[in-house]
Amino acid sequence: MVDLLKELTLIPSPSGYEDEMVRFMYNAFSGFGCKVSIDRVGNVAAHFPGTKKETPRLMIFAHMDQIGFIIRQVESSGFLRVERLGGIPEKVLPGLKVLVRTDDFKWLPGVIGSKSHHVTPATEKYVAAAIDQLYIDIGLKTREEVIQKGINIGNPCVYMPSFEQLGNSIVSGTSMDDRGGCAVLIALAEALHQSPPALDVFLTATVQEEFNLRGAIISAQHFKPDIAIGIDVCLSGDTPDLAGQYATHLGGGPGISMYNFHGRGTLNGCIAHPGLAQRIIYTAAQENISLSRFSSQGIITDMAYVQLQNEGIATIDMCFPTRYTHTPVECCDIRDLDSLFRLLNVFLHQFDETFCINRFS
Ligand SMILES: [Zn+2]
Repeated sequence: MVDLLKELTLIPSPSGYEDEMVRFMYNAFSGFGCKVSIDRVGNVAAHFPGTKKETPRLMIFAHMDQIGFIIRQVESSGFLRVERLGGIPEKVLPGLKVLVRTDDFKWLPGVIGSKSHHVTPATEKYVAAAIDQLYIDIGLKTREEVIQKGINIGNPCVYMPSFEQLGNSIVSGTSMDDRGGCAVLIALAEALHQSPPALDVFLTATVQEEFNLRGAIISAQHFKPDIAIGIDVCLSGDTPDLAGQYATHLGGGPGISMYNFHGRGTLNGCIAHPGLAQRIIYTAAQENISLSRFSSQGIITDMAYVQLQNEGIATIDMCFPTRYTHTPVECCDIRDLDSLFRLLNVFLHQFDETFCINRFS
């Protein structure tokens, strides 16, 4: 799992420009004897047909994209001004390394500038600069030079991909959100290849979650699942700034999201399907996997929209605790990803037609 996660984390894949991740997931799924397809927007799906008829259809998905930037202006001096692509926290930006994509799919290095410390007045020292005050330096001196390199308005940028192992089982990097989920999908594909499921399973690696939370909708409309399980990060409540606020912690096992909601202009979220939640909690207990319950405002995934598709889908967000979300040093625990894989693997292999998809029977 560590080597796979490292490989996934080092692939630059901002929302809307997931090409390298699409290729990676397509190749990874293709090794497991399933039918693999890529839809018009870039979602990659692996279909494992069920051995029993009359069972529900299950979609498990994780997003391939990551937060980043889009170039808004190339200044005559060669500096780049950018907009945020997804939930980039401005307070961590000055002094970071980035990659900027050219028109011909190359990634060039750059840095986010910061006023030299020696001349920063006290009034600016403790204030986070807004995105429109920041700029990217790619070492070129004129607009013409920048454009000649294939970099122009609308091109994407990402944090410089990085991956480190910390301590014994913690890994830190630029896009644990949601390459951790993609790693679990690949592990599930391998397991489903070795042991076919009773029900039809669609493993879907999706696009544009960080941009508009709706890439997974296309897969849900196409595959018409009765049940959908999302895999994404949840907040880890074990850092000095969040201590005591959440039951989740690194190494404490995966999380089951009972409730999430985003109210700032979005007004959507996901309340776990009670039958699914019960079944997953039961499976975890049976397998001796510790599972943390998680509820939070401020978090939302594309499940918020997937649940409303077709005739309504029974949905639940499963997660792995992550520290410092949306910074370039997101940390998670490799043991939690392993346990999440084991839990979902047992869950989907034990699933049968007796499960009540409706909330009321
Ligand atoms: Zn995510």
